[in-house]
Amino acid sequence: MDKIKRYSDEIKNMKDENLYRTLNVIESAQSSHITVDGKDYVLFASNSYLDLCNDDYVKECARRALDTYGAGSGGSRLTTGTTSVHDELEKKLASFKKREGAIVFNTGYMANVGVISALTSEGDVIFSDELNHASIIDGCRMSKAELVIYRHNDMEDLEEKLSGYTGRKGMVVSDGVFSMDGDIVNLPKLAELADRYGMLSMIDEAHATGVLGANGLGTEEYYGMEGSVDVLMGTLSKAVGSEGGFVCADNTIVEYLRNKARSFIFSTSISPATAAVAIAGIECITRDRVAALRENIRYFCDRLNESGLDVQSDTAIIPVIVGDEKKALDVSAKLKEHGYYVSAIRYPTVKKNSARLRITLMSSHTKEELDGLADLIRRYCL
Ligand SMILES: *Cc1c(COP(=O)(O)O)cnc(C)c1O
Repeated sequence: MDKIKRYSDEIKNMKDENLYRTLNVIESAQSSHITVDGKDYVLFASNSYLDLCNDDYVKECARRALDTYGAGSGGSRLTTGTTSVHDELEKKLASFKKREGAIVFNTGYMANVGVISALTSEGDVIFSDELNHASIIDGCRMSKAELVIYRHNDMEDLEEKLSGYTGRKGMVVSDGVFSMDGDIVNLPKLAELADRYGMLSMIDEAHATGVLGANGLGTEEYYGMEGSVDVLMGTLSKAVGSEGGFVCADNTIVEYLRNKARSFIFSTSISPATAAVAIAGIECITRDRVAALRENIRYFCDRLNESGLDVQSDTAIIPVIVGDEKKALDVSAKLKEHGYYVSAIRYPTVKKNSARLRITLMSSHTKEELDGLADLIRRYCL
């Protein structure tokens, strides 16, 4: 089978380099505890930071939408796939993020590829942080614009690169919270530079929504600069506890995207129940929940610092860099033996030899659970 051999060879390579991946089958709802192979684990690897995936109110809203609007949405958004729930979700998002309008995509991935390729054309330039999420990278690849990558969150490098393209149109795009490092974009400087050079600013709020700012509005609220980003992209799949991606922006941009973003136009919309879950999830982003998450982040970082690990985070993502891919896998396996579920993140998600444990916290983790994990990290990572 010569046609297939190159794939099996590559699979073997991946296994040899500890880069082979498998699926983990979870037998329970996503919450701070999960069941895998019949065993209970404390989950420190989920993006459901406010623990809303299994929330009673959220599930009740899904059931009601299912009863009223049925299962599938039956069409793309521009044909028959826009129900009252989809409409309500977009209104809810616009008011939550304090923008004129919002447009919902089926996933965050689809939002990024659709939005970046729609808003830029041939002759434009896109300035993209080197650590941006894969969906931003793919959006840039699908765009006809020229791509300029600047050093991670390095605003001097961005400015130098921008100054080489004066008079051109395009955008500066960055994660708000970087998904594998948990650090936060220098938004004040980025927004100022984008404005000065006449570029759109686009921020991906996947890990910022429901996490940053007293009300969980995201990176803008964290810096006290609401309304300053031109294209505020985010996901409904992380803290919100549902599925989908969105952009909040001026009406003109939303109207344009509805007509031009191919991933919006040529795909069946999320189910009404999924949209209802998103609405309920946004309602559940309360100051109390966000404060509980923030308290857990502070508590856990303090525990790690006491053990001599220099870990700092203002977000729910706490990376413990191990370096070697095999070691990351071994530590993750050890933690699992003790009942703690933590992901080892390896190339190509992060650079080679920067493998890490990507610990993510939830608002519902208890102090005992945080202490327990901190002790094990001390034991196996120092
Ligand atoms: C998860 C993620 C996405 C993709 O969102 P999905 O809804 O999972 O498709 C986009 N950007 C960033 C920064 C992410 O972390």
